[in-house]
Amino acid sequence: MAESQYIFSPREAHEAEQQWRVVKRSVDARQRELRVHLTILTDEQGRPIAKDAPIPLYAPPVFLDVHKAKRSVIIIGAGPAGLFAALALLEHGIKPIIYERGKEVSERKRDIALLNRNEGLNPESNYCFGEGGAGTFSDGKLFSRSKKRGNMQRVMELFHYFGAPDTVLYEAHAHIGSDKLPGIIKRMRECILEHGGEIHFETKIDSFTPYTVHHTPIILAIGHSAHDTYRMLAAESVALETKGFAMGVRAEHPQALINKLMYHSTNVDYVGNASYSLVTQVNGRGVYSFCMCPGGHIVPAGSEAGSCVVNGMSASHRNSPYANSGMVVQINPEDIPGDDPLRGLKYQETLERLAFEHGGPQAQAPAQRMRDFVEGKASKDLPACSYLPGLVASRLDQWLPAHIGPRLQQGFRDFDRKYPGFLTNEAVIVGVESRSSSAVRIPRDPETLQSVSTPLLYPCGEGAGYAGGITSSALDGINAALKIAGLA
Ligand SMILES: Cc1cc2nc3c(=O)[nH]c(=O)nc-3n(C[C@H](O)[C@H](O)[C@H](O)COP(=O)(O)OP(=O)(O)OC[C@H]3O[C@@H](n4cnc5c(N)ncnc54)[C@H](O)[C@@H]3O)c2cc1C
Repeated sequence: MAESQYIFSPREAHEAEQQWRVVKRSVDARQRELRVHLTILTDEQGRPIAKDAPIPLYAPPVFLDVHKAKRSVIIIGAGPAGLFAALALLEHGIKPIIYERGKEVSERKRDIALLNRNEGLNPESNYCFGEGGAGTFSDGKLFSRSKKRGNMQRVMELFHYFGAPDTVLYEAHAHIGSDKLPGIIKRMRECILEHGGEIHFETKIDSFTPYTVHHTPIILAIGHSAHDTYRMLAAESVALETKGFAMGVRAEHPQALINKLMYHSTNVDYVGNASYSLVTQVNGRGVYSFCMCPGGHIVPAGSEAGSCVVNGMSASHRNSPYANSGMVVQINPEDIPGDDPLRGLKYQETLERLAFEHGGPQAQAPAQRMRDFVEGKASKDLPACSYLPGLVASRLDQWLPAHIGPRLQQGFRDFDRKYPGFLTNEAVIVGVESRSSSAVRIPRDPETLQSVSTPLLYPCGEGAGYAGGITSSALDGINAALKIAGLA
């Protein structure tokens, strides 16, 4: 079997995808005319292989029955890291026992609907906490294909096995969507339970002591929003350290404008709405776009009362009229005085409370038109926005910290130089995007993957500071499971 590369118009690429076995696909917007690069599987004579040829897409996973398994592992957190760790344990005949503070996915949907209607935040069931973790009601971008950490393609295959579309196997910027993710997560849960694993919802672990005495390995996959759990870890003398992170705002433009800027056209037939990835340096710190959601929605992603945090998601068709993205400034440990390992987390909390004071009283978020923000002017009104709980006009130019506000202002000017029209009052910025990455690391031994302070504790995923995003967290979970199984 071989592979051949082709460059097509979007329509030709679409037709080829219906016929042939595609193994890679990416959109090239560098020229005025959009092009789609396809890599197609061929036989030895160079003839394309038909899409439905009887050649397996990948080796399907084999999950073993662990009802009576001798070995078990406790997993704290049912996000991508915890769930993929559980699936990997099943493949090696080890019983996963998952504790998840939030609810199962269909009940979680109801709490999220209440939050979006400004009818209250459930601090245990929201955009961050509950089955599937922060990845469930997300954009579902599956970006990272870095080979450094392990077999990323296997993560894509498992998503596909549980119901993700074929495109996750070959698309350069694969995407699932928040309408499809809950079903995939539910099928993962059913698989874990059918094979003898356990999942305990609405069970928050607030002390390790009862578990550590049993000498059972614990995979700690708590994500980066469980600030109370970090404080519990500190109180129980688990080693923690501050790490660099990023904070800022979420920007939203009309999607048609972004299509024009990125694709030089408002016709996005066969390629879908355009995304962007922007980066610049301002006064020694990176300013960059993060988790861009074409055709998406801005969502209230906080987990504590009295704080305002935003993030973005999109459905599989990415067809809302809005394009949103985090716009964040890099923050290094030395930017926050002191030596408390939780000082980054406290800095996040301070900004989130400030945003709540300028927004509120429920999940309404403070916002300013983008050009007004850059020029230091109040916005007399705000444009229509995808954020369901609603916006409150606010002077973000005045209250964002000096480390962040002026850098974002310069960053938007730089992005406008690259894409003239990006800096516009048709766009709105919404505060605050404070949870783009973990502000804490739970250091682990690179060989054993166990906490440097606490034997048999395997910190993994985004909350441990070793991953950022769905795929890298999932892979980190698999790596922890393989280490416990003695296979890595
Ligand atoms: C709105 C939104 C959109 C996003 N979009 C994308 C995207 O498109 N692509 C992408 O790659 N990433 C995206 N992300 C980030 C991505 O979701 C995270 O990087 C990923 O989910 C991290 O996986 P994790 O398993 O390490 O942690 P999490 O997914 O955060 O899961 C941790 C789980 O642990 C549970 N938990 C915490 N403490 C305890 C405790 N004490 N006891 C029991 N359970 C506990 C939590 O309830 C949670 O379910 C998005 C995040 C959000 C919020």
